[in-house]
Amino acid sequence: MRFDEIHLKPEIQKALAEMGFTELTPVQEQTLPFIMEERDLIALAQTGSGKTAACAIPLIQRVDSANPAVQALIIVPTRELALQYVAEIAAIAKYTNVRPFAVYGGFSMDIQTSKLTDGVQILVATPGRLIDLLYNTPLRLSEVVTFVLDEADEMLNLGFLADVEFIFSCLIHQHQTMLFSATIPKEIKNLAKSYLKDPITVELNIEQVAPESLEHYFMQIKPVHRFEKLMDYLNIESPEQAILFCNSRTGAEKLYHKLKEKIDSVEIIHGGLEQSRRTSLFRRFRDMKIRYMVATDIAGRGLDFSHVTHVINYDFPRELDAYTHRTGRTARMGRRGKALTLIAPSELGKLRLLIHKKHIEPQWLGPAPDLQKPHAHHDEKSYSHRRGGRSRPGGRGRDSRHHRRDKGPSS
Ligand code: ADP
Ligand code: MG
Repeated sequence: MRFDEIHLKPEIQKALAEMGFTELTPVQEQTLPFIMEERDLIALAQTGSGKTAACAIPLIQRVDSANPAVQALIIVPTRELALQYVAEIAAIAKYTNVRPFAVYGGFSMDIQTSKLTDGVQILVATPGRLIDLLYNTPLRLSEVVTFVLDEADEMLNLGFLADVEFIFSCLIHQHQTMLFSATIPKEIKNLAKSYLKDPITVELNIEQVAPESLEHYFMQIKPVHRFEKLMDYLNIESPEQAILFCNSRTGAEKLYHKLKEKIDSVEIIHGGLEQSRRTSLFRRFRDMKIRYMVATDIAGRGLDFSHVTHVINYDFPRELDAYTHRTGRTARMGRRGKALTLIAPSELGKLRLLIHKKHIEPQWLGPAPDLQKPHAHHDEKSYSHRRGGRSRPGGRGRDSRHHRRDKGPSS
């Protein structure tokens, strides 16, 4: 279906045409009719499928630009996602009088408040900052008719469940609620049960989680050779633009410093950086001014960098869904992309699970392991020179830490 076949304000049509949006993506095609009917909705779709516009277009169509009150509220888990979301809304709303705005931590509340006082119809927010504004400023949500929870699963991963429930509880009047998520863990099901009215569930490509245009490469390595193997790969492959994922901030920093000695255009991004720094890094990366970006999971999540040709899992992701989210940074909107995951012998069990659960067709650089046999089969002795130091004290770092509102995720 084409955008010019659906009933949209001419100002929106004009902006979409300028942005090069002609055909609806499958997610947009399946969700738009329900969204326009103001039904509650749960949409499950792979990353890069166009969920932002699916939501933004009907919001812009619906809000009354003569009313200065917030009428649509979108909650996203991170500051970068807030910026990205609001940028897409602003582009689509360019020829309308609708004013979108984003609020997030690490930025002056006074400036945000004065902007809100001037009138904002579509507000994109991170949960912590929104709650601060609700407590400490005149901001009210009583005219919100559409409420969107984006990247709901990540929201929960970051410990925002209580905050999200609080925000839900502030919306007591009649409104439409939409929940977007790549996966649907049981907490999300519960949330939907408590706060959504007779929702439509739209599931797309749940079976085949990875985009088709993405090739999944794996390389067996001994942990001591991890960096060397990575360099060989980068030299041979010469990616146009790549994100290199590590599991921890310290790991990312180590990799960054090693790469820096060999490569000019490399930067690092993690939740511990100043907001202004993060924003400028994202912008430069998106504008192709940075070739390689070392990142932690938080930094990479949900972000749309359309030029990324390669995603490299320098560390095997701790959770299977993280594999999907990381590799979803490339091969967006049908473009081709490659993912490379370095596999240490001790990770073959997890790999087997990944391939099975996510229906991945692995391609091997170097010898393929025998994935039929349980990984205990692999002779630990042959890797006896492996350093014990790669064990991960504290296990899943995120969970062992209390989430601090507005400080943003720290890994
Ligand atoms: P998701 O939230 O599903 O991960 P996004 O909404 O970030 O994906 O969309 C991915 C990219 O696709 C963005 O750059 C967006 O501008 C672009 N896009 C969205 N819809 C269309 C469309 N109908 N035609 C062309 N590009 C689109
Ligand atoms: Mg998105």
